Amino acid sequence: MSFHSELPDLEGKDARDILAFTLDRFGSRAAISTAFGPSGVVVMHLASTLDPGIRAFFLDTGFHFPETLEMVDRVRDRLGITIDVVRPDADAVAALDPEGASSRLHARDTDACCGLRKVEPTRRVLAGLDAWITGLRRDQGPSRAATPVLEVKESDGRALVKVNPLVAWDRKAVWAYLFAHDLPYNPLHDRGYPSVGCWPCTRPAAADGDERAGRWAGEAKTECGLHTRIG
Ligand code: SF4
Repeated sequence: MSFHSELPDLEGKDARDILAFTLDRFGSRAAISTAFGPSGVVVMHLASTLDPGIRAFFLDTGFHFPETLEMVDRVRDRLGITIDVVRPDADAVAALDPEGASSRLHARDTDACCGLRKVEPTRRVLAGLDAWITGLRRDQGPSRAATPVLEVKESDGRALVKVNPLVAWDRKAVWAYLFAHDLPYNPLHDRGYPSVGCWPCTRPAAADGDERAGRWAGEAKTECGLHTRIG
């Protein structure tokens, strides 16, 4: 199937329309990836109003803050959608990072650690999908400034469509939507963390600066690889 030739131009369309197209075209072969950031919660809520059967998946790297892990049940309870919790392959962890829960791989090689705990598990999920929905926004930082609404990606030799319905939203619009719909959010955002990832690689940051400045602080790295190493 050629995704390229069949995709409409959805640039400038409303997020709800983008999701409606995605759910109509791909049905149960579409799912939302989320780490329970504010944008992801908005996308899950919007999608759930169109199709309560929409699925989401969350990567449990083994290094999340308790507040993030609690979001799984909070969002499930509030939205009533299925959220799959995906973990790294145990054999791969044993082979590449045998220290397990006391691993220091993140201190030695963040790319290897993210590859093991985020990129490979995501590839496993994407093998069963034709559309991968995200909460990416262009205003989240330079690495995301050129994100299109729809893009064709290749994962393990298969093409799939990556759908980014909120690319044109800004941080203020996302928070306004969250509050207007009384949606749950990670309480760490109230404690100085504009963006929340794994605890070894997340620091508080200025509320009005680069949203992802607290991620891998002190390193050139700004992305775990999900959005740069797949496709
Ligand atoms: S964010 Fe840090 S702890 Fe989490 S997978 Fe990447 S390197 Fe490992």
